[in-house]
Amino acid sequence: MAIMTTTSSHTFLPVLERIAEEIGHTPGRGRPADYIPALAARDPRSFGMAVAELDGTVYGVGEWREPFSTQSITKVFTLALDLAREGDELWEHVGREPSGNPFNSLVQLEYENGIPRNPFINAGALVVTDRLQTRTEDAAGQLLDFLRAESGNPALDFDHEVAASETAFGDRNAALAHFMASYGNIDNDVTVLLDQYFRQCSVAASCADLALATGFLARHGIRADGTRLLTRSQAKQVNAVMLTCGTYDAAGDFAYRVGLPGKSGVGGGIIAVVPGRCTLCVWSPGLDERGNSVAGVAALDRFTTLTGLSVF
Ligand code: GLN
Repeated sequence: MAIMTTTSSHTFLPVLERIAEEIGHTPGRGRPADYIPALAARDPRSFGMAVAELDGTVYGVGEWREPFSTQSITKVFTLALDLAREGDELWEHVGREPSGNPFNSLVQLEYENGIPRNPFINAGALVVTDRLQTRTEDAAGQLLDFLRAESGNPALDFDHEVAASETAFGDRNAALAHFMASYGNIDNDVTVLLDQYFRQCSVAASCADLALATGFLARHGIRADGTRLLTRSQAKQVNAVMLTCGTYDAAGDFAYRVGLPGKSGVGGGIIAVVPGRCTLCVWSPGLDERGNSVAGVAALDRFTTLTGLSVF
């Protein structure tokens, strides 16, 4: 499929401006994640939102060019990078059902023999990163290269302070990785895997960067340079798993309110895809109790309500 070219337009800018205005008046915006100390200092009133069109036009409101910690949003990109390499074999090692549990939960893993429910909870993302590491010997580096290429921003980088903070407070992720290793579902040394995973989560990027980097999912698998990363069917699969699992145990409520494939991170960012049309990224660090940005979900809810764009 050729990339759809449109005359550059800022079609949704008036909608974004209206949303920013409304969000500015919303009290009670949740709390930044504090289990990763380096994230706790962000101001919960920060807000940015960007739209990227299929042709690479990007625009936004508020702090849409301010870098923030991407965290679990990166799970979408590592999934795509691994799926592109190994195809369906991946699904023998990680499921694709909503977990109904918090993103860092351990409880299902023993009942389900070390096979995580889906690639967007931490256990599942650790499996995906492990498999990408086996195939590339530098999973986090592959991720960073991909994000730089798709966003057109060569300055994107790991945030070593955040990665160190996660390592220092990483007992739960270490427990998940060791537990899965005991079932034979982790190939690499757990220390190597955790280093890759924490660096992956630490990448700092803006709403503009992430909206652009998500573009291949709106273009049915086609990268920014016109080459194909995923088959059309695989792009559908990633979007479907985002819709059903991308916001953890709030995925049902997110689908109900927003009606788009979306993926959140505890840095307060959320990406969303309107297949065949555009991608979005919103950021506001205050989280609800399930780890999703309060203002971010509200802004995406308003976007699909005001524009009528959703997958339904
Ligand atoms: N780095 C975070 C963790 O592993 C990612 C979690 C998230 O963004 N939901 O706990």
